[in-house]
Amino acid sequence: MSYRLKEAVFKVRCREPGCPFFPEIVVKENIMGATEADIDSEAVKIARNMAYIKHDALYGRTHALASPEATKVTGSYVQLGTGPAAPVVAAAPVSTAPTRTYKPGEAIIRKGESAVTVCEVVRGSAHNEKIPEMAYKTGSTFGAAAIFRHKNRLADIVAGPEGATIAFYNLRDLSRTNPAKARELYDEAMEDIFHVVEHLEDYSETLERQVKKLQAAQAVRKPTPKPAPKAKARAKPKKPAAKKKPVAKKKIAVKKKTKKR
Ligand SMILES: [Zn+2]
Repeated sequence: MSYRLKEAVFKVRCREPGCPFFPEIVVKENIMGATEADIDSEAVKIARNMAYIKHDALYGRTHALASPEATKVTGSYVQLGTGPAAPVVAAAPVSTAPTRTYKPGEAIIRKGESAVTVCEVVRGSAHNEKIPEMAYKTGSTFGAAAIFRHKNRLADIVAGPEGATIAFYNLRDLSRTNPAKARELYDEAMEDIFHVVEHLEDYSETLERQVKKLQAAQAVRKPTPKPAPKAKARAKPKKPAAKKKPVAKKKIAVKKKTKKR
């Protein structure tokens, strides 16, 4: 004989001293188990995941949810089948990660927030706010900083023109409950890191080319101050700002990008 969860309510506390976070979290996922206790052990994981998201949204800028303490408040279950051979269904490996839907252009993650979850696009698309060509279509993953402990988000990611539904996975929890899915998300997140590195490489090459052009333009400008280089400079928006010490400044910028790799 087995049971299915109807609804369970948990209170989740953050152990960070002075943190007021202590919400009631309702879990209604379709979880089945041989006993109510089996169901509870899955439900509490979902409650914790949801608490991470909620806490991240409220206090993510100051600290991450510290070893959450989850207490069950209530739970109701449905008994399934009465035959002795009723299958014992472990918590179905259905995606139990909390999801959220965003309006077009709405921020999904913000640079500097503490990174606890890896984000998978379930519907619609998302992209880097500053570099729109770095886009994530349905099924792809971003938020790789969450792979590492105590890292913050590295970029602003917003919902695409048709909006987005995002699933938030805590990889550490997921590797226990669904290692195959955890592995998949890990690989995709690593791929994303390489895309970002490639983009930075292209970007630094572009900067280097601009520096060389500027140097060449300056060399030409000195002997004969013609209007032609000026017109060129106006076409590129970043150049006027760099007029004072263009070469030195640009070089530093390029070096920094290179070091980060
Ligand atoms: Zn807290």
